[in-house]
Parts: sequence; C-alpha cells; structure tokens
Amino acid sequence: MNKIITISSNNTKKSLETREILHKKLIDTGFEVDYEYNPNAQLIISIGGDGCFLQTVRDYNLPTIPLVGINTGHLGFFPDISPVDIDSFIKSYLDGDYVTQELPLLEVSISTKDACCNIYGINEAVVKSDKSRTIHLKLNINNKHVQNFSGDGLLVSTSAGSTAYNYSVGGSIVDTSLKVIQVAPISPINTIAYRCFTSSIICSHDSIVDISPECDFENSTLVVVDGLEYNFKEIDNIKLSISDRKIKLLRTSNYEFWSRVCEKFLNF
Ligand code: NAP
Ligand code: MN
Repeated sequence: MNKIITISSNNTKKSLETREILHKKLIDTGFEVDYEYNPNAQLIISIGGDGCFLQTVRDYNLPTIPLVGINTGHLGFFPDISPVDIDSFIKSYLDGDYVTQELPLLEVSISTKDACCNIYGINEAVVKSDKSRTIHLKLNINNKHVQNFSGDGLLVSTSAGSTAYNYSVGGSIVDTSLKVIQVAPISPINTIAYRCFTSSIICSHDSIVDISPECDFENSTLVVVDGLEYNFKEIDNIKLSISDRKIKLLRTSNYEFWSRVCEKFLNF
C-alpha cells in the first residue's frame, strides 16, 4: 500500500515554494502526496502559520490523522518545523523520532430558542456583543452561579489556546500538558454599578462552563471560535467543556513547551 501524506498550505509565495520542495522530497522518499483531505493519509502537513494550522483542522473536519506544521507564517506556535529543516524532519519522521502531542478540543454547545449547535475549537471561544456595547453575561460553572459579568466579553480557552488571544487579554499561559479551561474577562467593568472578577479563573478539565445573556434571548450575542464568527438569533446559553475529541500534533523530539514560549514571547 502506498504511504500517503496530505499537504495543506496557505497561498503565500513562501508557503507555495515550500510546498513544491516538500512535495518533491516526499515523492523521492517513496510517499504519495495529496493536496486534499485523504482519509487514508498517515500524516497531514500544514504549511503556513498558526492561522493556517487552525484552518487546516477546520477544513479537514477535526481529523484524527496526526498533523505537523511547517512554519512560514508570522508567529507559528503550532507549526514545529522550519522550512530549512525539511530534510531532517523527513528523516526523523521515517525513524519515528518525534513525539505526539494530544490537544483536546473545546466543545462549544450553543442553545438558541429553538435549536442547538456544537462547534469545536482548538484555541478559544469568545462571547461578546456584536455591537460596540457592554455585554451582560451570567457565568455558571457546574450549575453553580459564579458571577454576572459586564464588559466587552468572556474568553474561554484551552491550554493550547492560552498563548493566543487569552494572553493578549491578560490571561495566564498554561503548560499544554495540563488539561484545564481558562475563563478570562475582556475589559471587565468594576464599579459600584457592576462587579466581576478582574483576573482570569481556571477550572478543572471536567468542568462545564455555562454562559448566558443576562437578558433572556438577547439578540446581539456573538460567539467567535478560533477567530471565526458565529451569529445566532436568540441565544439561550452557551456551554463550554473539554471534549473527548482531540487532534494529534507531531512535535520534534526536542520540543519543550516553556522553551517555545520564551522563544516566541521573550525572543530568547
Ligand atoms: P490572526 O489574527 O492572524 O492571529 C493573531 C495571532 O495569534 C497570530 O500571530 C497567530 O499566529 C497567533 N496565534 C494563533 N493561535 C495561537 C496559539 N495557540 N498560540 C500563540 N499564538 C497563536 O488570526 P489567525 O491566524 O486566524 O488565528 C486565530 C486566532 O487569533 C484566534 O484563535 C485568537 O486566539 C487569535 N486572536 C488574537 C487576538 C489578540 O491577540 N488580540 C485577537 C483576535 C484573534 P500566526 O501569526 O502564526 O498565524
Ligand atoms: Mn495568522
């Protein structure tokens, strides 16, 4: 049976050049290459940055096939391979010299007045107003009322997403080997009129975070999952939890979370 590898890439010049080089090297090593999702592939290679990696996972419907990224993008927290290291990556892959990181997905269940819909995210879900107005949300965790939030929104992230938008709003960076859910406030109002947590809170992996508009069937609630907007009419509530579904990300065997954080955020 042929060994199939699927390559997904964004359209930048650098990515397309890298794709051509990679394609040739894979064929020379005895692989068959596909540019579309192939259920028989043994590996999916995403060429681009983090955005491209997130897009690949979405386009391929949360694949169970392992993924690896080649970073031609800006930051590249998910992609592990540099375009100049393609030869050594292919050798390590053939030798089985890599580690597989399992990233559990965030399950976002949105209930509206008359429907229910499930969305999965790798990084986060943001609940905010679709207008430039204060949003008022009720936050329950495991059926217990925790707070009424007023401000720009609530951001619920996985550990893998902790270094993304969550970090920009002042949330904590979480080691991806920890399975937790982080709820970070975006510009919370703290006055005698409104009072809520000003820091993020971190919940255990089996928690169910429940966010609902304070006014029933508020019509201006926007849910943004991994940067993609979902507009629903008359949202009743949004339940967020760590799903059993996960993606498998190949890492070079010298990958270490905190070294990567220092390299990408502190530039050393
Ligand atoms: P984007 O606007 O290009 O993303 C913003 C930045 O987030 C990019 O530099 C991206 O890396 C980086 N990023 C994505 N996932 C990351 C992760 N897990 N750890 C560290 N950095 C990460 O949009 P995009 O590329 O489609 O990515 C969507 C993500 O953007 C969302 O999931 C959200 O986390 C993030 N975002 C951040 C802000 C903010 O920080 N104020 C606002 C909106 C969205 P690349 O350059 O490699 O693509
Ligand atoms: Mn991007």
